Amino acid sequence: MRIDRLDVYYVAMPLIAPWRTAYGADYDIHSVLVKATSGDNYGWAESTPFFAPTYLSESAGGAYYHVTEVFGPQVVGREFDTAADLNDALTIFKGNSFAKAAIEIAWWTLQSDITGTPLHKLLGGETREIIAGADFGIQDTIDELLEAIQGAVDANFPRVKLKAAPGWDLDMLKAVRSTFPGMTFHIDCNSGYTLDDLPLFKEIDKIGLAFIEQPLHWNDVLDHAELARNIETPVCLDETIHSVKAAEQAIAVGACKYINIKPGRVGGLHNVKLIHDMAAEAGIPVWVGGMLESALGGAICVEVATLANFTYPGDLFASSRFYVEDLCEPPTVMTPNHTFMPYEGRLPEPNPDRLAALTKHHAAVLPNA
Ligand code: MG
Repeated sequence: MRIDRLDVYYVAMPLIAPWRTAYGADYDIHSVLVKATSGDNYGWAESTPFFAPTYLSESAGGAYYHVTEVFGPQVVGREFDTAADLNDALTIFKGNSFAKAAIEIAWWTLQSDITGTPLHKLLGGETREIIAGADFGIQDTIDELLEAIQGAVDANFPRVKLKAAPGWDLDMLKAVRSTFPGMTFHIDCNSGYTLDDLPLFKEIDKIGLAFIEQPLHWNDVLDHAELARNIETPVCLDETIHSVKAAEQAIAVGACKYINIKPGRVGGLHNVKLIHDMAAEAGIPVWVGGMLESALGGAICVEVATLANFTYPGDLFASSRFYVEDLCEPPTVMTPNHTFMPYEGRLPEPNPDRLAALTKHHAAVLPNA
């Protein structure tokens, strides 16, 4: 298809409560939305690297700049038969996966509109329910956390993910495990530790977690491989898997037994498929992660999780978990069984009034005259 124009929106979406992790607190979610148009057809995408480069080296401001000023002008006015062709047009640019994903995902939703094919079917997924886990950030007290977990246990969530950071780790985990002996837990460390913490991880081994997500440096595979050789609990990588190449190397050195896949972090949906297939071949299950996106970004996560090797419950949420009112409609609603269905038609799209209210910057990328 020919991409006639891109409309790019930088939005800040206020959260109901701050999102606290090992890298700080976010009070609103800064996100880049792209509408790609081809003739009478269009498709939307969302990519959410956050306000500051705390999760990875990208930020929403940087992604907005790259989409509008650098990457967008390379693709507008050109024909791309496949997402791989579009990726090829951007390979001279290093990194900036979230910015590339904002354009690449719009190629997919546009292709879905043009062909009348649901996105998950275009991706090669099957129409099936996608199950979500529960997820709790760092709380003020362990008692508050235990109460929150009780709610998830009562609601029969299949697993609970806990954020961990120095000062909120072993004591918290011992309390959690003694209160909920049979529940499946994993922790997400968001790169908060180093190999010097090996004694701590050997203690954490006794807790019996499903895995430890991203314990060490965000761009490392060798230390993670070393840790994986020295502890019983499987290691899962998130931040480190920021490209297809990084996934290849992590698998080659034995750095992980699980991979969290986020469409924005890996540069879009073609790369999701490559990493998904590579992991499947290595016997590594994958699961989908979110970046507190609006219903649009959340729906994209559900669509990709229909691929066969997404087997561990994902970080997928109802809109009401984070937002008083979702930027996009329809809002995301979770079934009582904590599942989401992929869409048979269009994905959620921004409500025009809310988009106008939350947009900080907007630009159209048009073909050169
Ligand atoms: Mg993570």
